[in-house]
Amino acid sequence: MTKKFLLSENDIPRQWYNIVADMKTKPLPMLHPGTKQPLTVSDLEPIFARELCIQELSQERYIDIPDAVREVYKIYRPTPLVRAFGLEKALDTPAHIYFKNESVSPVGSHKLNSAIAQAYYNKEQGIRHLITETGAGQWGTALSFASHYFGLTLKVYMVKVSFEQKPYRKAIMNTWGAEVLPSPSDTTNAGRKILEKNPVASGSLGTAISEAIEVAISQPDSRYALGSVLNHVVLHQTIIGLEAEKQMEMAGAFPDIIIGCFGGGSNFSGIAFPFLRHQLTKGTPLRIIAAEPSSCPKLTRGEFQYDFGDEAGMTPLLPMFTLGHTFQPADIHAGGLRYHGAGTLVSQLKRDNLVEAQNIPQLETFEAATLFAKTEGIVPAPESAHAIASTIREARIAKEEGSAKTILFNLSGHGIMDLAAYAQYYAGELN
Ligand SMILES: *Cc1c(COP(=O)(O)O)cnc(C)c1O
Repeated sequence: MTKKFLLSENDIPRQWYNIVADMKTKPLPMLHPGTKQPLTVSDLEPIFARELCIQELSQERYIDIPDAVREVYKIYRPTPLVRAFGLEKALDTPAHIYFKNESVSPVGSHKLNSAIAQAYYNKEQGIRHLITETGAGQWGTALSFASHYFGLTLKVYMVKVSFEQKPYRKAIMNTWGAEVLPSPSDTTNAGRKILEKNPVASGSLGTAISEAIEVAISQPDSRYALGSVLNHVVLHQTIIGLEAEKQMEMAGAFPDIIIGCFGGGSNFSGIAFPFLRHQLTKGTPLRIIAAEPSSCPKLTRGEFQYDFGDEAGMTPLLPMFTLGHTFQPADIHAGGLRYHGAGTLVSQLKRDNLVEAQNIPQLETFEAATLFAKTEGIVPAPESAHAIASTIREARIAKEEGSAKTILFNLSGHGIMDLAAYAQYYAGELN
């Protein structure tokens, strides 16, 4: 039986898929934080490259992937689709389990899919400097490589607690030439204000975003870049599902259930939206599950309302499921899932009952991660382990029901940079 479904370079999709075109209920507009009016391209232009602002508000179904972006994708794409026979056997389930392996990217996660596109559009427009923030470090890592590739400088504001706890993350960003600063820093008004109040502040994603935006809008030839939540990021990530669609065809199957872990929604949307298109346009039955941490349960426990994307309230107001922009999640190891809100597209789809959500306690995710590593040979990122745990829950239900369901999940990244978390788990120090 075939284990791996591989495409050739030629099969790398030539367009991304924009689900807005097929949504029956369109998402509510994003609002300008000052005027409270629907956001326009020109409102966004001082912050992001023009083409990204256009994509952010686009309703076009397909958007061309530039050749130069496809060329860089060839370094690691198409990524494999794998039938998880080992995991199926260990669970003794009649379910057929497949995963899309985004961990093969040189930076170890799916985040490079959008980083390459964002760096490219900035370069094309003549921008010379990018500024971003990073929490756990994956987004900063991906954008470091992409910025270097397109000849842009990159400054990364890294949440101070991660900066101190994860020296290898800083080292890998430095390898690609990025400058990494702990946030809060004394290089911005936002940072200095916080340091005045508390000189030993450990930082937050909200503060780091505020610092990065402040620098981007005050310096010439500079823009800000964000690695999740926004529509243009989700758009770029649909390359995952578009490839997986062809690969499931090769496998002669179509998923009954699709599962992705959920931080701001980019990898989840990336794998799910191209399949959801079949349900939206042809009524093909499909369950789509977002797996989030119990400690940051925006989709299962949050409220749908307009909220800011950052703690300081500098970003546009987004209509989304949120725990409130000042929510402080517990310090779990899946750093990429510690975000207070869900992107506007997934939020609307959840309201329309087209997307389900499950929240999963940290210990269950590490149990799932180690079973996956033992049976499939890949140590998953703590974030991806949420998708694996949810897959295992569904595979057990399939066993009880005696049904040969087809489950597809996204392996958003590997955990080789997160072994300290595994060490704590083995030492019994996690809760
Ligand atoms: C950042 C990250 C996530 C969470 O972000 P999404 O935008 O929700 O995908 C999940 N997995 C990995 C490996 C990440 O780096």
